[in-house]
Amino acid sequence: MTAGLPYANGNLHVGHIAGAYLPADIYVRYLRACGRDVAFICGSDDHGVPVLLRARKEDVEPQIVVDRFYAQHRTDFAGLGIEFDFYGQTSSPEHHEISQEFFRKVLEAGLLVKKSTEQLYDDGMEMFLPDRYVQGTCPHSDCGQPGALGDQCESCGRTVDPMELADPVSVLSGNRPVVRETSHWFFKLPELSSFLETWLEGHDEWRSAVRNFALGLVREGLVERSMTRDLEWGVPVPIEDAGASGKVLYVWFDAPIGYVTFTSQWCQEQGKGGDEVGKWWKDSDTRIVHFIGEDNTIFHAVIWPAMLKAEGSYCLPDQVVANSFLNIHWPGESEEQKISKSRGTAVWIKDFLSENDPDPLRYYLTAIAPENQRTTYKPEEFISRNNDELVATLGNFVHRTMTFAHKYCGGVVPEEEISSEADLDQIASVERLPERLSEEIEQFRFKSTLQLLMAEARRANQYFDASAPWKTRKEDLSTCRRTIRACLQTVSVLGMVMSPILPFASARIARMLGREESSWGWEYSSASLKGGEILGEAELLFRKIDV
Ligand SMILES: [Zn+2]
Repeated sequence: MTAGLPYANGNLHVGHIAGAYLPADIYVRYLRACGRDVAFICGSDDHGVPVLLRARKEDVEPQIVVDRFYAQHRTDFAGLGIEFDFYGQTSSPEHHEISQEFFRKVLEAGLLVKKSTEQLYDDGMEMFLPDRYVQGTCPHSDCGQPGALGDQCESCGRTVDPMELADPVSVLSGNRPVVRETSHWFFKLPELSSFLETWLEGHDEWRSAVRNFALGLVREGLVERSMTRDLEWGVPVPIEDAGASGKVLYVWFDAPIGYVTFTSQWCQEQGKGGDEVGKWWKDSDTRIVHFIGEDNTIFHAVIWPAMLKAEGSYCLPDQVVANSFLNIHWPGESEEQKISKSRGTAVWIKDFLSENDPDPLRYYLTAIAPENQRTTYKPEEFISRNNDELVATLGNFVHRTMTFAHKYCGGVVPEEEISSEADLDQIASVERLPERLSEEIEQFRFKSTLQLLMAEARRANQYFDASAPWKTRKEDLSTCRRTIRACLQTVSVLGMVMSPILPFASARIARMLGREESSWGWEYSSASLKGGEILGEAELLFRKIDV
């Protein structure tokens, strides 16, 4: 399981988390609960022009910049409970070695070809302007938006050849660049296009937006793409060739190889050798699943699979799960807008966690998950959903159940057997819950997983109200205790199935029930409570947030 490598040139905001990392973490936690053997791999993308631009702005070495963001990203992920098995850096020597070996194998397979080419060059700065060093107007005629970057248009999401940009401008000097000759190694994507078309057609279980976008690109006709750059920062091109000096691998060539590198580093960390890496990357029984933001679709669904096919020894991804972007709608603003650092419209994870618990954000970002289209983060809605749903529905049910269990059942699970129709109905409903949620999670429908979970919590509150244990405790204590037994059983199942989305609350429920968190799996039976089990102390599950 991988999540797209964040660029080590800026902090993480809610859009990043909703796009790749939270869905991946939910899926991984679910698979682990089911007892599956999972490696959850990510790391920072230390190369590329955005890092260089940042380093230049701060007047420091790129390594200083990437190490700082690497540390901050790790802190942010840990604070949100997003727990990778390994979080590496593409600037590591191990990664340089593995990606150079990868490049050599694609070269030997005859799928990389050296060609002389024209490139934009900044005369004043005396350097070539690859990728985001240049900006201009999008060359795709049906788009034509200004501000397109030298590698990708942010308006239409398509890749851009900097030579085709209208009105190009050097990002470094603001000058109009000139054209100069250089040589690069081009990946012969057209030779792999019929393979890619068949492979993509075979994956009709993918989200249609991802598959259709990738198939569209392949059918439109792929072009040879340069996989090297005239830059000093990156993985040096590993060839004995005068033309290779001063060149590095294109960041989108080396970045996805990071998934392999980091898996390898993780295996080494555990004292396991090369065979173990093979188990994850070369064994057809392993499923490789990539979680990404939509802007990375072309790289993960077209170019990376083509690279893997060309290299020849690795398995191809089984799933590429891409999410759309989040917009943001600030209170008082007339309309929603894109999350943007420069316009100051982002909600940064660092800031968020300094004032809030992680679960409410995991909850809200799942509730508004941009699974098939852009959705909108609204700070007021975040607060109301926390207060009305987490606190007033889920938290309230757990709280009233625990209060009754301690006050009227002596802090143990009542021994009375459940017998009334209403009690049995309640148990039957939660008994089906793990399986119903599995059906959603396995199709990567996390938003509807959460809807089913919350519907069950509402149902549980209705059951509590209808059973009126505050009345029965005076009239017939054993009826009251039967109700509380069914409620405790419901709390236990909810605690288990909320663990992928709300891991911190789930752990609190485990403690309240006097159980080990690790004793939960994903079967109803593993959440089942026996009469006489001693409960832990009641805790607050969620906190109300003041508007
Ligand atoms: Zn465009």
